[in-house]
This record gives sequence, C-alpha cells and structure tokens, in this order.
Amino acid sequence: MDAIDHSLASAGCAPLPPLLPLVDQKRQLVTAALRALLGLPDHVPLQWRDQAAAAGLERGPEPAWFYLLEIGAAPQQLQLELASAAGPQAAYFRGQRLTLGHRALPAEAQAIWQALVRRARAVDSGAAPGALLDQLQQARRAYAPYHGLDDQEFHSLSGTEALLRLGFRCNQDCSFCWQGREWPEPDLPILLTWLDQLAGLGAQSLVLTGGEPTLYLDKLRAVADRARQVHGLRVYVQSNGIRLRQPAVLQALQAAEVSGVLLSYHSADAQISDEMTRAPGTHRLTEQGIAAALRAGLEVDLNVVVERRTLPGLVERSLRILQEFVPLRRQPSQLGATFSFPTDYRDPAIYAKEVAPLDEVGPLLARALQLLKGAGVRVSPLGGCGFPLCVLATAPECIELGWMKKLAPEHLRSRQHPPVCESCQLRAWCLGPRRDYLQHHGSRGLLPFARVPPEIGGQLQRGSA
Ligand code: SF4
Repeated sequence: MDAIDHSLASAGCAPLPPLLPLVDQKRQLVTAALRALLGLPDHVPLQWRDQAAAAGLERGPEPAWFYLLEIGAAPQQLQLELASAAGPQAAYFRGQRLTLGHRALPAEAQAIWQALVRRARAVDSGAAPGALLDQLQQARRAYAPYHGLDDQEFHSLSGTEALLRLGFRCNQDCSFCWQGREWPEPDLPILLTWLDQLAGLGAQSLVLTGGEPTLYLDKLRAVADRARQVHGLRVYVQSNGIRLRQPAVLQALQAAEVSGVLLSYHSADAQISDEMTRAPGTHRLTEQGIAAALRAGLEVDLNVVVERRTLPGLVERSLRILQEFVPLRRQPSQLGATFSFPTDYRDPAIYAKEVAPLDEVGPLLARALQLLKGAGVRVSPLGGCGFPLCVLATAPECIELGWMKKLAPEHLRSRQHPPVCESCQLRAWCLGPRRDYLQHHGSRGLLPFARVPPEIGGQLQRGSA
C-alpha cells in the first residue's frame, strides 16, 4: 500500500456508499416504465439508452422518442429499437403510436422477440393498457433534464470534507467550467437528506457550491443552519464573490455562521479576468466582494485556475493580493490562496487551447507562491485539484502534504502516472498529472525527484502526510 492508498484507507475513503439517489431514481422510473410497456419481468436484464437527441428527433415538429434496448444476456441478447411512430426510422413493426425494430436478433432469442412484437401490437392497438405509453412519456420527461448527469455531480465526500451543489445557475459563464448552466437543481429536501447522510459518513466540514451558491440564499441558509446546528459541521461557501459586496448577501452568510469562503480570483488584470469569466465588468465586483468578505472577518481563500491566460500574470496577481487584500486581514490565517490544475472544461477546444505546459508553469507558480507565503498567506498548490509535486521542485518549501488527509477516490480518477514517474522518489505522495494534460503535452515538465527534498522528508518523518 503506498502513501496515497494509505491516505484513502485511513480517511475512510472507500468509494462513497450511495446517497439517496436523484438521477438514478429518475432513470429507474424510465426502466420501470419500459419494463411495464414491454411486459418484461424484473429478472430479465434490461439496459436502455435514450437516442432521441442523437437521432435529431427532439427537433422535429412532433414530440418523438427513441430508445435503444438491450434485453437478456449474451449470447441470447436482443438489441432493439423502440420508438414513437413519429420517428422516421425503419422498423419491423410500425403501429399508430409506436415502432419496434431489431439490431441484433440471435436465433435463440426468436421466441422472446415474437412475444415482444405481440406486446407492441397490443399496446399500440389499445388491447394492452394505453396508459403504459403515457407512463413512459411521463418518466421520460422527468428524466430528461438529468440525461447525461449522474449523482456525483451533486455531492462528494473527500476525507472529512463534504460538498453539496445547490444548483448550477451562475452570474458568470467561465470558459473553463465543466457544468451546464441549464442542469436541474436539487430541491431543499434532498439536499438536507444528503447532508444528513454525509454527516453520518463522517463529514466534519461542508462546502456549499454551485453554480454560484449565493444565488440560492434560502437553500444555502437552510442547509448551513442544519449542518452547524444538527451535525456540528463547519460550513464554507465557494463563490465568485460578486454578490458578497452586497451587504444583504454578506449578512446572510454571517447569519448562517459560514466559517469561510473560497473565492475565484483569476487575475489582477480585469480584461483577462472578464474574458475568462465571459462576464464583462465583473472583475471589479469580485475584488469588491473579496474586500467585503475580509472586512467582515470571514476566512477567505482565493482560487486561480492556472492556464495559458492566467500564467503570465500569476506573479502580478500575487503582488495585487499583497497590496489590496493582505492589509485587510484581521490575522494572517484569514487569507489563503489556492492554485488549480485545470481539467474537464465543458468545451474541450478551449481546454486544448489553454492548458499550459508544466515546464512553463513551474517557475511562475513557484514565484507567485513564494511571494504569498512570505507574507504569511496560506498557499495550496497541491491536492485533489492541484499540481504534481515536481512542478514545485524549485520551491520545495511550498510543498505541504497535509492535503493527503482530504483525498477522495474521485481525485484519482482524472490522474495517471506516466512511465517517467517510475523512478521518482515522491511518486507515492504525488497524484501525478491529469490524464487530459498527458493527452496534450505528454510528460512535458515532469521531472522525477532523484531524492526526497529535506523540506518534505521532515513532514514524512513527522507523519504529517
Ligand atoms: S515525476 Fe511524476 S510522480 Fe514525481 S512528482 Fe512529477 S508527476 Fe509526481
């Protein structure tokens, strides 16, 4: 077991037991409706995919639907197409309301295929309850907003830190974001249920995020109150900071006894920031929000996604933090800075354009960190969203391995150690680069440690990693 495996195990980070399902529950309604329509008992395996959008049917004049079905197990597995009669696809059976065709029809499955065709005729003619089609439509409409999502988009647990997304609306439109602004938002009852479940799994702190969570102040307040009062959790809010300059919003966070805010602060340059967030004029508002949060005594962590646009100004950003925000601290620990290694942009073309090679990141990141650290600002360039350790080879004093206590299995999914890491003396304490990065830059910028730097050796001896 290496250090990362050990951290996962000691933090109780086996894969998260399922919380109350949201997306899965809606998906199961469709499964149940398909089973009822086809007369398929529960013990017969059924997989389905909604192909209406892929087939362009949702753009047609009539509402149309189209499912690919896999029924049974190989080698007798049937692969079928079940669709509304409005669809243009060819089919073995074409009725007034639905069609049924096959893609794969093994000889051993002829009997069940004939039974399914009889069933389709019966449903279509009204001999079987016509409501079955209506039930399928209802289930399909309920599931449609969640299509392509899964429950992990709404919550997570990293070590003892839980995260809940209140919704996906936002007052910016960051080009590096992986979310859809139109995604459905969880309602308050399910958020509170997830909160209770996450607390039961050992959460000690809670991050409320979105979208922009301050657009959901009522939910934020209700979840935060329960987290503190019932479960004794410390509550943090992840925000772009724009609304924090409004006294009413800041007061709401204070009333919710939020311990701290993680605020996006991408650049000292307003033009670059506004281009990244695709929200003109908001850089100034974010800076006002940061200042307001500090004056109110909230713990503030400033996050930057380090990419080609932010990299050249990384040092200037640190200087501006020193000039504008450090003087507003009540005590040094009130201000921190996080540096994120990007992945998973919703638009892969923007990621391909903006992902910066790590040999270019290293020197500027090191200088930006050293400036902040020298002023007593907490710095976090590593961890689940952070960089491989060797990017900081010239600033080993900025490598702190405390983040390993917050590691979660999902942090490993986007990571991969390429062959160059084999000889690295810190491989067991490094997540490696992101897979997306390797696709664009290969092993560029990865420099295996030939020995453990003394700054890190001390941490390992003290057992702080
Ligand atoms: S060489 Fe590989 S294992 Fe070593 S610090 Fe760099 S990314 Fe991590």
